[in-house]
Amino acid sequence: MRFSEGSLGRFFVCRLNYESDLLDSIRRFADEKGVKVAVFFVLGAVKKARFSFYDQEEKRYLEHEIDEPMEVLSCIGNISKMKEETIVHGHIVLSNRKGRSYGGHLRNGTIVFSAELFIMELEGTVLEREYDEVTGLNLFKL
Ligand code: ZN
Repeated sequence: MRFSEGSLGRFFVCRLNYESDLLDSIRRFADEKGVKVAVFFVLGAVKKARFSFYDQEEKRYLEHEIDEPMEVLSCIGNISKMKEETIVHGHIVLSNRKGRSYGGHLRNGTIVFSAELFIMELEGTVLEREYDEVTGLNLFKL
């Protein structure tokens, strides 16, 4: 196991705008506030969602789009950098009106109905991503 040690920095509590893009809102907020490394979680509801599943054999994402109102049961993730770009990596679990759940790797196109976002900044650590040949993913450079 590789690791980096830091400490908690600033803490933000946010209410996301109606019909905003969930992933994009987090990235923009991090850029506005100069947050380079953080963890976050979200509760709320969405009007529709886009998420994906990583096929480990094919090394590519399979996309899913569900165009109906759903609860955000859980959405957790982290914020890091790849070159100068802010990378928001989130996973989301949703449920529809029948209580059926879906989930995966959060994508742009997940549209907020209402959402409560908590961001906890991590200080004293640098999280850069780099391409990993074994998995085909951009992983932490530790
Ligand atoms: Zn992921």
